[in-house]
Amino acid sequence: MSKNMMNWISDLFPLCRSLTGLGTQKTLSYFEKINPELKRISFKTGEKVFDWEIPKQWNIKDAYIEHENGNRYAEFSKSNLHVVGYSSPIDKIISKNELFRHIYTQADQPDLIPFVASYYENNWGFCISENEKNNLPDGNYRVFINSELVDGVLELSHAFIKGINDKEIFFSSYICHPSMANDNLSGPAVLNAILKFVKEEFDNLRYSYRFVLLPETIGSIAFLSKYSEELKKKLIAGFNLTCVGDERAYSHIKTRAGNTLADNALSAALIDLDNVITYSFLKRGSDERQYCSPGINLPVCGFSRSKYEEFPEYHTSADNLNLITQKGLEGSFSIIKNIILAFEQGLYPQTKVLCEPQLGKRGLYPNIGQKDKYDKIKTRWDFLAYADGKTNIFEIAKLINKPLKEVNDEHQLLKTYGLV
Ligand code: ZN
Repeated sequence: MSKNMMNWISDLFPLCRSLTGLGTQKTLSYFEKINPELKRISFKTGEKVFDWEIPKQWNIKDAYIEHENGNRYAEFSKSNLHVVGYSSPIDKIISKNELFRHIYTQADQPDLIPFVASYYENNWGFCISENEKNNLPDGNYRVFINSELVDGVLELSHAFIKGINDKEIFFSSYICHPSMANDNLSGPAVLNAILKFVKEEFDNLRYSYRFVLLPETIGSIAFLSKYSEELKKKLIAGFNLTCVGDERAYSHIKTRAGNTLADNALSAALIDLDNVITYSFLKRGSDERQYCSPGINLPVCGFSRSKYEEFPEYHTSADNLNLITQKGLEGSFSIIKNIILAFEQGLYPQTKVLCEPQLGKRGLYPNIGQKDKYDKIKTRWDFLAYADGKTNIFEIAKLINKPLKEVNDEHQLLKTYGLV
């Protein structure tokens, strides 16, 4: 199921997504076909959600800058990053000076087009590379943006998979960025692979699972305005997935509390991997801001490969399909898979015998006790030593400092032998 992630991302890459609008709707429809459990929830323009108001719906068809000699620049049809997100419509001849007041570049990365949006102010603008800006000829320019800001809807997709237990594990990702890959199509792709895994892998789920795809910030605020009371009762661990497609690092953005079940689960799943970076809540930037806010206070941490704001291609045209890999996406998928397996195998393993079980008579111990053989079964011993029914599987992994996958395998084996 995780094999398709790169294909999904390639299919969706060209669409112009934003908080609202056609590209965003098409993106949600695409994933709803893959996982029909995902159901659309709409909020109308003007609707109050906590301290915010649902904005107008933004639709865009075309845009460009045209010099009086006929040469075109910043053509939307070549890259949707060329238009500032939520630009109001315009069709006007202006001077180069005035044009420059509406042009955004990334001066320290002069070849790249930056991603810029201006959601909550009436504004318009174009994004081009610093080099292109410096080469714009003198003269007048026609600025053309064929967009509309209308009363419409802000939409998100929501899936709930019921398990035996009411307690639920939660996954959130956002779908509001135009053509960029790591931030942000990687997150929705991994989330959908996880959703498929959860519904296809288990006959009887021990826990319930909830998934949301939404526009960042306003989408999670709108979602929480409907579901926060339910989530406060049921959610025991949640993960905001973003920038999960490259191979350079594994990042854990801690919850506000810093030591929730979600934090423990993720840090256990990252044991022994290369280049693991743990960020405090002070480095938050995505929807964990809303999920962890005072009064909401859900145990939702952030998971990324290279974290947003920390990789050089972030929010530029260089965050493209070359930056992410199937291997990078699968690495992220398997971290979450191991966390889900840990939950489903039982969060609080408890040994069924008093004192150490005799492993030898079950074939679980080398026949000859010699010191170099001990290392191989150290994980088994250590697991059993902490399997007291009170220490959760993630804490056990951290106490014995073994990767969650290895601890899960040991747990499964000892269950097979009836020892836990
Ligand atoms: Zn972003």
